[in-house]
Amino acid sequence: MNDLNLKFDDLEESMRAYAKEHHVPIIQDEGLAFLELILQLYQPKTILEIGTAIGYSAIRMARVCDTHIVTIERKEEMVEQAKKNIEHADLNHQIEVLFKDALDCFEDLKNKRFDLIFIDAAKAQYLNFFELFTPLLNSGGIVVCDNMSFHGLVLNQDNYEQQSRSVRGLIRKLNNFKQNLLENQNFDTSIFNIGDGMAVSIRKG
Ligand code: SAH
Ligand code: MG
Repeated sequence: MNDLNLKFDDLEESMRAYAKEHHVPIIQDEGLAFLELILQLYQPKTILEIGTAIGYSAIRMARVCDTHIVTIERKEEMVEQAKKNIEHADLNHQIEVLFKDALDCFEDLKNKRFDLIFIDAAKAQYLNFFELFTPLLNSGGIVVCDNMSFHGLVLNQDNYEQQSRSVRGLIRKLNNFKQNLLENQNFDTSIFNIGDGMAVSIRKG
């Protein structure tokens, strides 16, 4: 049982209800409390988020520290919801939504630098996102990856055989990414069994 320091205003409650109703996979409470703690301690001035969905995590991040966020989303209906919510939260000056596939965004972002990168999009692409965007991370910067345990499936290998081919493929890719992260000499990485599994990688030097 956790005691989390989380409070939600009316807008956030309505986003949570929307996500539940429409099966939008917003960050779990435990993961959110952990991410917010990292932001409060580290105070990143700039954040890149991959996977906006309806803007829930972006709005929460913008509210815990004085930061500028670029967040990327490839689904039009999600972008529309996110923009509406960000406007409602009066955070247009802090959050910029890019409507694109993240893998096509390097050119748009190549002159920017980020203190923190939050990876929370297509699980099969985590390694590609990491390799593409970490050159834009300032030294001492942090990469946080959500859903590292993919609803428990990566950590619990027992029922691997019962999964569909595509789910098995995703589990393999996430495991491969996990190994890659742990072996990457340029980052210090720990993977926590928090929320749906969160990896925190700190860039050395
Ligand atoms: N960070 C959000 C949840 C994101 S859910 C929150 O916690 O509130 C993941 C989102 O990533 C989905 O909306 C999906 O459309 C988007 N996505 C997946 N792959 C993507 C890609 N390659 N480029 C951009 N967006 C992507
Ligand atoms: Mg997630």
